[in-house]
Amino acid sequence: MTNNIKHLFKTSLVKNAVSISLVILGFYLLFNLFAISKLSDLADHELDKKILHEINHIDQFVDFNFDSLYFHSTREFLEKDFIEITENPYFLQIYSRDGNVLFNSPNINKVGEIPIKQIEFNKSYYKENIDLDELKLRVIYSFVDNKDNAIIQLATTRSSISHLVQEFELFNLITLPIIVALIIFISIILSYRTYSGLNKIILTANRISAYNISERLDYKANKNDVYGKLKDTLNNLFTRLENQINHISEFTNNASHQLLSPLTAIKTELDFIRKKERDTKEYIETLNLLDHETEKMIKIIRTLLIIAKEADNQKNSNNIFNLSQLINNEIKARFFEYGIKYSIEESINLRGNPDYFIMTLNNLLDNSVKYSEADSRYISLTAKEIDNFIIIEVADQGIGIHASEKSKIFDRFYRGNNSDTTKGYGLGLSLVFVIVSQMKGTIEIFDNVPKGSIFRLKFPSISLD
Ligand code: ADP
Repeated sequence: MTNNIKHLFKTSLVKNAVSISLVILGFYLLFNLFAISKLSDLADHELDKKILHEINHIDQFVDFNFDSLYFHSTREFLEKDFIEITENPYFLQIYSRDGNVLFNSPNINKVGEIPIKQIEFNKSYYKENIDLDELKLRVIYSFVDNKDNAIIQLATTRSSISHLVQEFELFNLITLPIIVALIIFISIILSYRTYSGLNKIILTANRISAYNISERLDYKANKNDVYGKLKDTLNNLFTRLENQINHISEFTNNASHQLLSPLTAIKTELDFIRKKERDTKEYIETLNLLDHETEKMIKIIRTLLIIAKEADNQKNSNNIFNLSQLINNEIKARFFEYGIKYSIEESINLRGNPDYFIMTLNNLLDNSVKYSEADSRYISLTAKEIDNFIIIEVADQGIGIHASEKSKIFDRFYRGNNSDTTKGYGLGLSLVFVIVSQMKGTIEIFDNVPKGSIFRLKFPSISLD
């Protein structure tokens, strides 16, 4: 398992690092392409300014009239840049609209022919790049004297720009392996930071089972970041599971215990009766005892089955029954001997399974009887409707329930400290709780005055139309 996780960790880390690297590298390359194009644009722009400045200068010395070109001065064209191929040479051609070259600078002969171009009337100048065999040229065309019958073509080399771009590209190429290595390194660090936390969580979570559920994730994490939150969430989950597991094992313990005592009684009785032949009276006594103990077990198991079934049942029964009738028919006779005081509003109806509700009332009243001294059995059962709620109360003046036990007595098999001498399995109130909840009701316990307890059930009223 651990090896599997190590492998998983490694592959996830590599995959993540590769993705991050590719994304950063992609951005880096895009940025460089953009930088190169911007750089050459800027350099072209600077070159254009220089050429245009020179064209304006030339235009001042030249006139075009009646198909002929007039020079005010030729001094300008005798400069070295027009004669030779210097570092920044100027290649000048002046030609008429019909393509007749009227002048070209001497250095043009050294580079061969530079093609000429007619420019549109509505443009004051036009620029382009021309690649000759050896030279890359930036060329600008402009009209002589702003009239459209003669054109000045002035070109210069773009070598400085190409050089700059080449140098930039070379720099990029040389630094690329270092950049790539750096990007991969950063990606691995980032991925490691992301996955090492998760890896620790997986390893610890994997280790935790029902046997060591008290273990907790203890990696260092800031409470406010995702890992901190994840750690707290999982630890809370483990705590909840631990409580439930403890609850289940306590329940299993209690259930086994409760079932074990009747089974032990049966076994002891059987062992005793088998020792020698007995008379009929003894056999009947034994059978009665077996019947009694079996009945006990059936009761426990039946109650558990109802609790289990109803605890999972999300839907309340659609049955509607009248409470007053149910009490008259099913409860009063059973508790006749205890002189219970009834105060039940006739019109109260409840939605649920009436058989289960009989069990609820039986259990509550049984408890009131069980936990009251014979001479203080003042038990009452009241039911009234107040503000759209049905309130049913079972009150006694018995031994009462200690505050610390009020929340526990609904647990399965829980028996209070006050129950030492009374018979029971600790299942009655669990059953009450499950049935009442299933009927969308709530149950609360109050201390009665001057003594005893009040169990208050509260249900939403139901309308019959
Ligand atoms: P059991 O009565 O079989 O012990 P229950 O689930 O009915 O189990 O009740 C759980 C515990 O709640 C009892 O053991 C007892 O301590 C306490 N209890 C229930 N009803 C009363 C009551 N009316 N007066 C005092 N204690 C009660």
